[in-house]
Amino acid sequence: MTTSPSFQQTPSIPFELRQSPIQGQGAFATRRIRKGARIIEYIGERITQAQADARYDDESMERHHTFLFNLDDDTVLDAGTLHNESRYINHSCEPNCQSLIDKGHIHIYALRAIEPGEELTYDYAYERTPEMDADAESLYVCRCGTPSCRGTILAPEKKAPARRKKATRKAKAPSKSKAASKSKSTSKAKSASKSKPAPAAAKKKRGTQRAKSPGRGRRAAS
Ligand SMILES: [Zn+2]
Repeated sequence: MTTSPSFQQTPSIPFELRQSPIQGQGAFATRRIRKGARIIEYIGERITQAQADARYDDESMERHHTFLFNLDDDTVLDAGTLHNESRYINHSCEPNCQSLIDKGHIHIYALRAIEPGEELTYDYAYERTPEMDADAESLYVCRCGTPSCRGTILAPEKKAPARRKKATRKAKAPSKSKAASKSKSTSKAKSASKSKPAPAAAKKKRGTQRAKSPGRGRRAAS
């Protein structure tokens, strides 16, 4: 896509935009970026949660991802209508950047030193909502290709999201299911320890990129 009136160019950014093996256009470092450096502000049109809901219904969500970034309980940044180069920074489950909210602004910072040519990524950690089901998972597939890829752009499942199905769970079977559950739990443990992002709630500063859940629309649809 070429630039549009809604594009806000940022002077002297340490990366360039080009085709990414992850998805579409990506952001690639053009010079060494030191650990902790602030790279770019995530720009978007400031809208309310209700406006975001109205803009992105179920149908549009199935066509494409949105560029919504949850700033706080009331405000969402929509980079679909107003954006800068930050919009092209892809998601990765093993990112080299992170997003932090500070005083009403979201910035992307380097998590570690980044060499020229490396693609910049951060963990979108899309907020999970109780309405999300398997369809939602498939809508937010991750193709970052890193060893610890969790397969989805949605935030890692930490706290059991909803406990409604607890009763249907069988009591822990003894040794027979051991192998299966073992591999399951190791992979879980692995991703938990490796990607170990500060839980969204724990640090207020952590930006939680939130896709308007398709569940919001689905509720009405089904
Ligand atoms: Zn991934």
